[in-house]
Amino acid sequence: MTEIFSFDDEELATHVQTGLTLEEKEELEDSPNLLSTLNFSTNPKKRSDSVISVGSINNRLGTSYEVGIQQPYFAVSSKESEPIPAAKKLKPKVSDFEPLKVLGRGAYGKVILVRETRSGKLYAQKQLKKASMVVEAKNYERTVNERTILERVNHPNIVKLFYAFQDFDKVYLILEYLEGGELFTHLAEQNILSERIASFYVAEIILALRHLHLNVGVVYRDLKPENCMLNRKGYLVLTDFGLSKVSTRDGKSNTLTGTPQYMAPEILQEQPYDYAVDWWSLGAVCYDLLTGSPPFTGSGKKQVLNKIVATKTLKTPHYVSQDARDILVKLLRKSPLKRLNCDENFETIKNHRFFRHLDWEALIRQDDIAQPPPIIPVVTNPELAENFDADFTSMPISPPGSPYDAPVFSRREESSFIPITKTTDKTSVESVYFKNFSYTTEGYLE
Ligand code: ATP
Ligand code: MG
Repeated sequence: MTEIFSFDDEELATHVQTGLTLEEKEELEDSPNLLSTLNFSTNPKKRSDSVISVGSINNRLGTSYEVGIQQPYFAVSSKESEPIPAAKKLKPKVSDFEPLKVLGRGAYGKVILVRETRSGKLYAQKQLKKASMVVEAKNYERTVNERTILERVNHPNIVKLFYAFQDFDKVYLILEYLEGGELFTHLAEQNILSERIASFYVAEIILALRHLHLNVGVVYRDLKPENCMLNRKGYLVLTDFGLSKVSTRDGKSNTLTGTPQYMAPEILQEQPYDYAVDWWSLGAVCYDLLTGSPPFTGSGKKQVLNKIVATKTLKTPHYVSQDARDILVKLLRKSPLKRLNCDENFETIKNHRFFRHLDWEALIRQDDIAQPPPIIPVVTNPELAENFDADFTSMPISPPGSPYDAPVFSRREESSFIPITKTTDKTSVESVYFKNFSYTTEGYLE
């Protein structure tokens, strides 16, 4: 994880010593959560009763950063001194998005359907409480990981990140709303897919993974049915990049957690691994599409690994054709070196008989006349989120920003955030400001 989480110490020291960058100051000022509670003043001369303090709580940032506890912080307006850029990037905030429905809940966060009030556009808002990110380092890593990788990605089969921002209590990712829901909701309705239909989705996953591997240098690592969603037109879109990883310099990693049923044996054995793990997972997902369950099942890593090791020849049900079986066997080879590598052998894959019904060029262009998606999700009104589980969509949307204990924020030592405190007449609440988190996609200019 080092590459994507390495914050430049010198840079951080400068930020901490001087407070925050102008953009970051503006973001905090913009936070309605803060403004409403704080009566926050941007003019240092007109000091209000409430201040935001930026500094080290219990000296957590280490001895090199000389920032006093509760050192007052005042944001200074940049407008007088800096030229106004021709097209200013939008800096969205929580109140710009009206929550409509809960779409889902993962192990790490909640995903809500929201409407941007300015444009009326619908987005999926993934949110996570800062307290949980500070207490559990892996929650922090997953969220920053997802935001960092999605910023670098630009592919029709990978979810688009529009904005990332934070307020006092939570961080938010504003993502493309995938109206068709999870592919496997549709699979569950049909139990198994025909080879013709399955080959369409497998091909789309190949396109997405090749982009990640070859253009972004990322191992996805979490290919599983729940992370394959459909957009309105029925194209497959990969979501959930919390576990993805920028490949290390020597091309091998050996850390991971995830869903064992779709995981390559080298990950389960905690051996070094590379991009080939995604081709194994593709084999497991393809098997699942064709038969209704993954090839090796079990509750934990050990059980799944035992099954993989014990299997000398891959078993496939009688209705799986020779062409499909051939591709499954090649993707599910235990040795990563012998496994089918769709990065290097793309032409061979394209010409494989399993894909004989597919027009690859039309698929790449997303030409839905020449190569129509096999399942077009029914969407009568996108705001109704009809393709999502009613258990979620009927949930009440909890109000944003409930306060929590101050001790939460002093439990961990971190250099990637700056402690902040909001102080009103009688109370003082602590939180943190995550460095380098905010993001606005190019092309979303005012
Ligand atoms: P996991 O437990 O799978 O690691 P997570 O906390 O990382 O979960 P996601 O898998 O990204 O969260 O999202 C949880 C659920 O929210 C998804 O299974 C899906 O139903 C829904 N969801 C996520 N992203 C979107 C999106 N862009 N559009 C619509 N729904 C989405
Ligand atoms: Mg998920």
